[in-house]
Amino acid sequence: MIPFIDLQAQRKRLGQPLEDAILKVVRSGAYIMGPEIAEFERQLAAFGQAPFALSCGSGTEALVLPLMAWGIGPGDAVFCPSFTFAATAEAMPLVGASPVFVDIDPETYNLDPESLQAAIEAVKREGKLTPRAVIAVDLFGGPADYPAIQRVCKKHGLKLISDSAQGFGCTLGGQHPIHWADVATTSFFPAKPLGCYGDGGAVLSKDEKLHDLLVSLRVHGQAVKSDIEGKTFEHDPKYLNVRIGMNSRMDTIQAAVLIEKLKIFEDEIAARNRVADRYAAGLSDLVKTPTVIEGGVSVWAQYTIELDGRDNLAPALREQGVPTAVYYPIPIHRQGVYSHYPVAPGGLPVTEAKAGQVISLPMHPYLTEDDQDQIVAAIRAFVKKNA
Ligand SMILES: *Cc1c(COP(=O)(O)O)cnc(C)c1O
Repeated sequence: MIPFIDLQAQRKRLGQPLEDAILKVVRSGAYIMGPEIAEFERQLAAFGQAPFALSCGSGTEALVLPLMAWGIGPGDAVFCPSFTFAATAEAMPLVGASPVFVDIDPETYNLDPESLQAAIEAVKREGKLTPRAVIAVDLFGGPADYPAIQRVCKKHGLKLISDSAQGFGCTLGGQHPIHWADVATTSFFPAKPLGCYGDGGAVLSKDEKLHDLLVSLRVHGQAVKSDIEGKTFEHDPKYLNVRIGMNSRMDTIQAAVLIEKLKIFEDEIAARNRVADRYAAGLSDLVKTPTVIEGGVSVWAQYTIELDGRDNLAPALREQGVPTAVYYPIPIHRQGVYSHYPVAPGGLPVTEAKAGQVISLPMHPYLTEDDQDQIVAAIRAFVKKNA
């Protein structure tokens, strides 16, 4: 079976320095908030063109932390796509707020600014929820339409989060999503384009006060710089908890892994783009191959094609040793626990259609041309047989 994602090929390339970096942490004893954490945060901020980066426990918590920092909670609405991983929408109920689901652009699968505008106006008209923020997702690694989404957010006074769990490293006109968003979040789940060897996440931001608040929320609402400046304390302010936070620290070992992985990330993004270009050259005359927004560079978390008869393609390819996956067969607003939350006026017809047509192919920077040719040939044979 051809691997769907080949993390072992990457591990071999990283070689001894990666294992040395892990062992160094093991021997140092600084398992929590060791020096690799601050070093990685510095490098991550530089890579993502953001003034600040905060590592945290997961991509899910990376979404929850800014919502907490902005005091978003019961009675508040946060707009997001339904065609995404559940964590995007889960962040809102976790702080007591309501997701409002918005439809997607049929070409890029990312938030449709017109559906967003209509959903915000509908929520305002209804008057039950207060619009507070928008979460745009860089689905499958391609950047959302940030200039248009930011315009809608500014018009309505809403915060903008870029959920770049799949898209960290993507750009639009040479800019990373933080150029338009108030915060950009990512996940280091192993299968993401920039993954670690366990769970981890990060919040990139550009406002020092917000970053300071996130630092506090990450460790049980501990007093941070702005809380203690100009004050005197009877006890060590380290144990002063000035707000309700949580524990969302990333392990030092994961930072050590990520420092090594960041060194080759740019090169891996280029390799992913070469793989994507070869897929398009081999398939676009027969099936719908992905569209990246004009001026955008995707990091290709997934390579997702569309065709009728998708459900028969998966077993046919499996027989030929080619694995596939469907992201996402059930849109979030159709899942039981999310079905009572509001959707944009007129529903989400594009989301529902796409959920029945998409299928993702093996995609990683180490996919060989031979394996890729085998995948392309198997798909071509299936489509011609079933035409
Ligand atoms: C993976 C993912 C997340 C959540 O990340 P975890 O690290 O698994 O918590 C959030 N949003 C999107 C779009 C994702 O793909």
